Amino acid sequence: MEITKHFFFNLSLLMIILFFSLIWVEKKQGKAISKFWLYLWFLALLASCLVFSYHKDNYIYLDLRSIPILIGGLYFGIGPLLCISVIVIRGFYGLDAGFLLNTLLYLSLAFFLWKLHPWFWAQSPRRRWLLTLMAGILLNILTIIFIEIVSPPENRLDAYFAYLVIPSMGLGMISYAVEFVSKNAQMRQELVQTEKLHAVEQMGAAISHEIRNPLTAAIGFVQLLQEHNLTPVKRQEYLSIIRGELESAERVIQDYLTFSKPTLDKIESIDVNRELQQVVKILKPTANKHSAKIITNLAVSSYVYGDRQKFHQCFINVIKNSIESMPHGGFILIETQTTESSISITIKDTGIGMSKEQVQRLGEPYYSTKGSKGTGLGMMVVYSIIRAMEGKIYVESEEGTGTLFRFVLPLRK
Ligand code: ADP
Ligand code: MG
Repeated sequence: MEITKHFFFNLSLLMIILFFSLIWVEKKQGKAISKFWLYLWFLALLASCLVFSYHKDNYIYLDLRSIPILIGGLYFGIGPLLCISVIVIRGFYGLDAGFLLNTLLYLSLAFFLWKLHPWFWAQSPRRRWLLTLMAGILLNILTIIFIEIVSPPENRLDAYFAYLVIPSMGLGMISYAVEFVSKNAQMRQELVQTEKLHAVEQMGAAISHEIRNPLTAAIGFVQLLQEHNLTPVKRQEYLSIIRGELESAERVIQDYLTFSKPTLDKIESIDVNRELQQVVKILKPTANKHSAKIITNLAVSSYVYGDRQKFHQCFINVIKNSIESMPHGGFILIETQTTESSISITIKDTGIGMSKEQVQRLGEPYYSTKGSKGTGLGMMVVYSIIRAMEGKIYVESEEGTGTLFRFVLPLRK
């Protein structure tokens, strides 16, 4: 059973290469592989067959070259190229009768593969699999006939078994793997598509709530401003309400922009204490409305690298959540502490707190427990900004007691 043994060895080699190529394709995550690399890859498969072919007679080399050629030709449309390559490589082994038959066989195969490839892809996966198998059997029967003409094998059973069973096994397995991988890639793509659609839907819903509400309110107060007998005090009050509403709409838009493009636009030096104080100032009116008292306890001034506007946005989102977690008022403590290389910013509230599951889901897009009042984007934006600043976030929370967020950012060198 010399030939069979040889072929089994050949097949295991192909399988090992196939195994690594599957990992490679998975890593590329469905990105297209160029024809050039495909060709090189199949050339390597071909070479691994030819180098280890079974050689008994002067001009007969027996191996599984039909497998890479059929797979490459049917599935990837590089059949003609591979056929020419196999003819050239076989030429190096000697220009004999075997070479002539090989040339004859693979030249005609090149033509068939070239014609067959587009039609092949139009078939259903199951039919493609069957077709590959049948093409393999046909090609190997032809090869056996050629061998019988040139130099009949001593052990017919061995040769027939080797040529009919092993290549079919190999082709069946490889074609199955190719189908499996391409189906997976297709499914993944569909999933991404659905998710994108879902994101757009969510965005529409959030825009109608989060942006239309403040705009409607602002329009209402603009109409009130148009009345003639308004006292200056009233006028001032309306203007500040309008401003607040517009700012809140602007923040939602800002969150969406950061959500779709989370990288930092510019890198600048940020004075942490100064910026935190600014954020507190911006949020004072909201805090007052909720009877939340903000207490700051800031260490010596220190600097980090980042985008100042995003830094603002990040801490506005966190502190706003703290304020909203205390419908009946409470305290928010903002503290900073520095070490040699980092600064830690702690924001602690006495609000409703979160369950373990809620803490785990923080930062997930559209995760909100506030119904139509929330966008579920705030924390997601916070996480992406802190990640871009190469910082870390720690959360401790207990339901009914409150929440503590700790941000650790590397200091400017
Ligand atoms: P939104 O505020 O629009 O709901 P966020 O992404 O800002 O979305 O927050 C997501 C969820 O995380 C909130 O709905 C809330 O359940 C929870 N959460 C965030 N911060 C706090 C906090 N300080 N206290 C209690 N729950 C919080
Ligand atoms: Mg929020």
